[in-house]
This record gives sequence, C-alpha cells and structure tokens, in this order.
Amino acid sequence: MKHYLSVSLISALSLGLASCVSVETDFDFDDPKPAPEWSLVIHGGAGVITREAMSADTEAAYLTALNAALSTGSEMLSSGEPAIDVVETLIRNFEDDPLFNAGRGAVMTETGGFSLDASIMVGDTLDAGAVAGLSNVRHPITAARKAMENSPHVMLASEGADQFSAEQGLEIVDPGYFYTERRWESLLRALERRGVEPPPNLYGPAETTDLSFPDDRKFGTVGVVAMDQSGNIVAGTSTGGTTAKRWGRVGDSPIIGAGTYAKSGTCGVSATGTGEYFIRLAIAYAICARIEQSEENAQQASDHIIHTELTELGGDGGVIVLGPDGEPAWSFNTEGMYRGFATSRGEQVVEIYEFNETAFD
Ligand code: ASP
Repeated sequence: MKHYLSVSLISALSLGLASCVSVETDFDFDDPKPAPEWSLVIHGGAGVITREAMSADTEAAYLTALNAALSTGSEMLSSGEPAIDVVETLIRNFEDDPLFNAGRGAVMTETGGFSLDASIMVGDTLDAGAVAGLSNVRHPITAARKAMENSPHVMLASEGADQFSAEQGLEIVDPGYFYTERRWESLLRALERRGVEPPPNLYGPAETTDLSFPDDRKFGTVGVVAMDQSGNIVAGTSTGGTTAKRWGRVGDSPIIGAGTYAKSGTCGVSATGTGEYFIRLAIAYAICARIEQSEENAQQASDHIIHTELTELGGDGGVIVLGPDGEPAWSFNTEGMYRGFATSRGEQVVEIYEFNETAFD
C-alpha cells in the first residue's frame, strides 16, 4: 500500500527545506525490508492539532525542530554512539526548545509554577530512572539518567529529586527560565474554565513569539526511542505534565511501564496523552507485553492498545514504538501527533496530522 506522507524529507533536508505538502511517495510500507542496523522514532506530543488551525510558520517551526532531532540522532547512531546518549541528547534539545512541553516551554501548574517529570529505560539491562515534580532542573531527562546510574533507586520525586540533581552537578535554573507567555495564557484559560482565580504571575512577562498555536489542548510532551548498532533499545520521555495540574499531580511520563518502557529484542515505547489513562492501562508495558506474548508486531500491538483499550476507556494520546528488530511504529487517537522516524535504511520521515492514521500498515 502506498502511503501519503505529510513530508518526505530525505532530499528536501539536504537542501535545508522543511516541506509541509502532502506528497505520495514511492515508499511502500508493505515491502519486506531488511531490519535496520539502527533506528530512531520521536514524538513532540499529541492532541488537537489540525491542519486547518495550523499556521504555515508554526508548522514549519515544528517540522524543523523534529527534523533537526532526527538528523542529530541519525548522525550519532550511524557513527556508532549508544542509544542512551542519543535519547538523552535529543530530549535535552527538546527541553531547551519552547515549542515543546518539556523544560523551557513547560505547561504551568494551578499555582503558577512548574513541575517537571521525566524517565528513561535501557532495554538491554532493564535499568531505569525517573524523576517527578522537579522545579528547577534545566534538563529533567539528565536527572532521570543520573537517578538510574548514580542512585540505588528508580524514581525520585519533588524536593528530593531537585536536591539529588543539584548534588549530581546538574544545571539548576530559576523557575522563571521555564516560563513562556503561551503557557501562562493557557493556564489563564484553564483556570477560567475551572472558575478559579489566577495566581500571581511570578515570572512574566516574557518575550512573546509570533507563532500562533492551534492546540491549546495539545500535550507537547517529548519522547525518543532509539536502537543502536548493538541492538540496545532505549526509551525516554520528558514533560511539564498537564496545564493547571494541582496537588502534586504526576502523570504517566515518569512512570516506567506507563509512559516509558524498553526491553531490547522486544520493544521500546514512549507515550504522550492524558496520563491518567496511560497509567491505568500501563500502556508502554502493555504494548511490549503484547509484542512479546502474541504474534503481533509493534504496529498491531500499538494499534490495539491505542484504538481499542485507550479509546474505550475514554483516553486520548499516542505512542511511538520500536519493535523487536528496531522497526518503527506509532499510533494515536488524537487529531495529530508531532512525530518522526529515521533508520539506517536512509528513511527520514516527519508527520504532524492524520486522525486515526498509522504510518506503517
Ligand atoms: N502524558 C503527560 C502527562 O499526563 C502529558 C503529555 O503527554 O503531554 O503528564
């Protein structure tokens, strides 16, 4: 079956172009292909992201950011770097980019602050690290990696996690560093809907952007799953959570098995969506378990969990997945998901839209 790609950029990229035109490609997803030597799949959040509501500038900004991530990751993986470094590097870059709901650009809590979550898992060893409720660490994904490598624990939370990060020498910032006008305005709208008085604005005003965002309810979490040349699959996820969250709410992103999971030879998963559903369905683990215990491939297992289980429970969002041999897949039940993949076979694809559409079947 021919597939209509939002962008097919291998040649466009070499010209530095970020196309947003739908084109029919000659890429045939049903053709048997040799397993990739390395592969990479990324997301920048799922949600109400429609072509009609997207301005050309905003679309171009997302396509450029996603393609830059794929190019960086491809370069690292093709030169033999380990998947864990790729996952950490790409997520750190996303955390610095205010387009995404992670690090700088994170959504705000009901009290007008920031509470950042991240996790990482190494598929070869099942080592994992996670942090929840960070308030001042510039790169939460690095804090998650440090928790995995330099603590006896898997998950650290709140002040303890901030303190651990500082002790590990990570970059500590004033919370105002995370602030963007866009997220403050989203908070005001959410509180108005909730009928709650806004908190004082402790950090604004900040420089505004000319970009307009169609997706107030877009999630914007970032995730990366990479398989390196040794076959190790690593998955990572980072987020500011959901707008106007309260009471120390923690979503799925830092929960191993819900927002992130990796087991080399089976799968790697990073999720984005309303975490309350992803936690209860243990979505990342559930997809891996289906792959391991049934005849389903990564695409089929993801589609089942997203379009049957998540949808029936009333949840919204999506996943990026690498299957046993590093074959990329994704699935989502929202109008859009910022996403892309690249492999050693020379593929590099970025997509934003398509309701209930999957790329690989
Ligand atoms: N899953 C995240 C959470 O619930 C939100 C997102 O994906 O953007 O915290």
